[in-house]
Amino acid sequence: MKEVKTRVCPKCGEEKPLTEEFWPKNCSKKNGLERYCIKCKKEYDVEYYQKNKEKILFKQRKYYSENTLRCLQANKKHYEKNKDIIYLKSLKYKHDHLLLTRQYRNNWIIRNPEKNEMIIKASRKKRIKNIDVHYVRSLIHQMGIDRIDITPEMIELKRVQIQLFRTLKQFKKEEAA
Ligand SMILES: [Zn+2]
Repeated sequence: MKEVKTRVCPKCGEEKPLTEEFWPKNCSKKNGLERYCIKCKKEYDVEYYQKNKEKILFKQRKYYSENTLRCLQANKKHYEKNKDIIYLKSLKYKHDHLLLTRQYRNNWIIRNPEKNEMIIKASRKKRIKNIDVHYVRSLIHQMGIDRIDITPEMIELKRVQIQLFRTLKQFKKEEAA
């Protein structure tokens, strides 16, 4: 039988098997594992963050300003993955700050009427082509459902329906030709 190596955590004093299940990975350490056990490391991290919040935030901002492009790409990836949830969250925010955003937007439109028209046309075209969340939402809304009641699941379902419809239309077109 293989003997399982153990180690005592210097913080909580508990003896635990020397595996990744009990010790966080740290490639800078000799055996690839952290000095404190997972439980203590988590507690330590929370404590450390509370104590050094300012310093950590400053470092993050510094890193961001020095690696803007890379950060933007990472943000974009995150956005693509969570598009619908982010959109619904922003809607809730807008709903809560309705007056302010409306005022800001109206002021911008007054200052840039032609630009606004162009943006509206171009984005509408793109939304329809991509079956984008805004377009799908407006379709669901036209069915008589309140915008605030529309869920990500409803959007996904409607999207599948539109895709199916478009594929069918394409088939019919090809058959007729
Ligand atoms: Zn421990």
